[in-house]
Amino acid sequence: MRFVPTLPPLTGETLESLSERLRERGEPPFRARQILDWVYKKRARSWDEMTNLSKDLRSWLAQTFDLIPASLLYGKQSTDVTDKLLLELRDQSLIETVIIRAPQEGVGLEHSRKTICISTQVGCAMACAFCASGLAGLKRDLSAGEIVAQLLHVCYREDPLTARADRELASFDNIVVMGMGEPLANYDNLIRALTILNADWGLGFGARRITLSTSGLVPKILKLADEPLGFRLAISLHGATDEVREKIMPVNKAYPLAKLLPAIRTFSEKHGRMVTLEFILIEDINDALDQAEHLRDIARDLHAHVNLIPYNRVEGLPWKRPSIARQERFADVLRAARIPVTLRREKGHDIDAACGQLRLRTEKDRSAPTPAPA
Ligand code: SAH
Repeated sequence: MRFVPTLPPLTGETLESLSERLRERGEPPFRARQILDWVYKKRARSWDEMTNLSKDLRSWLAQTFDLIPASLLYGKQSTDVTDKLLLELRDQSLIETVIIRAPQEGVGLEHSRKTICISTQVGCAMACAFCASGLAGLKRDLSAGEIVAQLLHVCYREDPLTARADRELASFDNIVVMGMGEPLANYDNLIRALTILNADWGLGFGARRITLSTSGLVPKILKLADEPLGFRLAISLHGATDEVREKIMPVNKAYPLAKLLPAIRTFSEKHGRMVTLEFILIEDINDALDQAEHLRDIARDLHAHVNLIPYNRVEGLPWKRPSIARQERFADVLRAARIPVTLRREKGHDIDAACGQLRLRTEKDRSAPTPAPA
């Protein structure tokens, strides 16, 4: 076993909590902001870079906090428009952060819309039948500092298209909480991380450009509706009747549609904005036209946007995506009713961009017997 430091990550501190720690040490009130500026504005990666702090304070910080609790294991660049960062945490757990570029018509790839997809747990307990993340169950929640660290690593990395570091998070259009894990099952850490992400002393990223995706934890959806920061919400529906949904998403037993749909309505009424319903299309499981009709009715009722996602194959699972013609027929049912619908042409297939796949593969490689050192 490697030595695992137990220091709390600095990236999990808020201005308030850090100020409090520094006050106990007798530091002036502006000190906390000065330190956070080094981390979030100047992107310092070591305490020694923080040259306007005394040596004594820097050494106290080094003994008190882990500056950033994740290191880049590798960044994998796709031949299409998706990049993936595999990060290693202090206990050797692996998490994934993905950058997705959506090219805009008439302009070069460097002007693509850019989205960052972050993880909230190591593994997942939801056990959706089609998803790679849940195959081995939940290992643990990510701390707030580990969630924030993913975004700093995105900022450190060099954009392959412009050959510049993406120093400004503002150059990204959206952040989606759709990586590994069920975000609402790690509610407090997630909200703390998003607060740091949003704050002017933190990464300064607008809450309205952050989308949380959930498999449908009803009490937490209702709690989220009362948060002061107005995040966007996406629901992984994937079945438009209990019968179909229950077969592929065990969460539907605790929170069937009769509970889930009213909670979505409450959320969107409080926020006055559209919720997105995600619907993966899996051949012979949920792609029949009567599912499209039910989905149409649900979306109309909730004034929701529908995101159709052709299923990404997962090694070891039998599911596959329907033909393009069948996908289009499904989408047409919604289009005919003027439901706002997008049929996603998936990106990053070649780099295991579907949730959890790169991590699974790397863990498998790691557990394979390695030759003893000579
Ligand atoms: N737990 C949250 C967020 C993580 S999953 C949720 O369920 O929403 C992000 C999205 O990817 C979900 O909609 C999930 O159902 C979907 N997904 C999982 N495996 C997939 C696969 N193999 N192909 C396509 N989408 C998948």
